[in-house]
Amino acid sequence: MHLKLLSLLPSFLVLMSCAEAKDNAISKNAIDSLIVQDSSIVRKYINTITAEELKNHLEIYASNEFEGRATGTNGQKKAVNYLKHYYINEGIQSPINDSVYFQHIPASYLPDGIDASKNVLAFIEGSEKPDEVLVISAHLDHVGIIKGEIYNGADDDGSGTVAVLEIAQAFKQAALNGYQPKRSILFLHVTAEEIGLYGSKYYSEHPIFPLKNTIADLNIDMIGRVDDKHIDNPNYVYLIGSDRLSNDLHNASEKINSTYFNLELDYTFNALNDKNQFYYRSDHYNFAKHNIPVIFYFNGTHADYHKATDTVDKINFSMLQKRAQFVFATAWQLANQPNRPALNEDIKTNH
Ligand SMILES: [Zn+2]
Repeated sequence: MHLKLLSLLPSFLVLMSCAEAKDNAISKNAIDSLIVQDSSIVRKYINTITAEELKNHLEIYASNEFEGRATGTNGQKKAVNYLKHYYINEGIQSPINDSVYFQHIPASYLPDGIDASKNVLAFIEGSEKPDEVLVISAHLDHVGIIKGEIYNGADDDGSGTVAVLEIAQAFKQAALNGYQPKRSILFLHVTAEEIGLYGSKYYSEHPIFPLKNTIADLNIDMIGRVDDKHIDNPNYVYLIGSDRLSNDLHNASEKINSTYFNLELDYTFNALNDKNQFYYRSDHYNFAKHNIPVIFYFNGTHADYHKATDTVDKINFSMLQKRAQFVFATAWQLANQPNRPALNEDIKTNH
């Protein structure tokens, strides 16, 4: 999660006036009538995403060895290599060609003094509509070492990173057993989020798949903790953006949650006038600004946010597991249901 708003306000004001004119297709009927795809198969692969495997990854990814993963540093290079070798070991190919997992971002694209960096991409091809692509994203960087202290970023965004790894593995295992997704899925680990969402911006300007064929971005940034508001009932996740561009997307997400999980879906931070404006502060925004429907999955802020104390021992692994499973099941629905999420009428007419 990016610390502050930079220069996003002008476009934010334009978008807000559009979103206020939102049509009204979110209804209990619309959600009830949705057909859940492959539920018995989905249940099986949901169970391959486990707290134990998430923990095993996170204990490495958010360890001191990775030096806080600041963009362009040695620690961040260890992080991208960890991700690449994971995908190689899992037999999950790259979309660039089978063996190039990195999208190189030159130093000239990044703020002064930051070295070149890389996004990491992996891919499972769709069986029926391979040209239509669902993106599942998380940022791979964090803020590094500050005044001699390593900022491990276990929640931000180690939690989202390891969730994407486990989601990719679940899709791969399903594909190996004959259940390939109908649409393609891109697992996108973006760099340079903490210094201004550069990795996702770079991808959106140099997409591997045309943006018009990109059906949605499910972006995970901080899903391993429980905030003060939910201390007595941690069975929640904040969703941001799900209805802003596509009520179809919002409805599918609601349906999947009620079918499998019964998490409290907290939309507090989705309010257009929310003072935090989180909608503009993580990587999904670089898809949303191109009118690609997004959901941002988030646990809220906490006392260790952007502190050296955001460490693995504070992660709630059973909630990290459940939220990762929720993203997986939502992704399955989107990749396999008959139609891609349609843009809301007001978005189509105003942009
Ligand atoms: Zn952050």
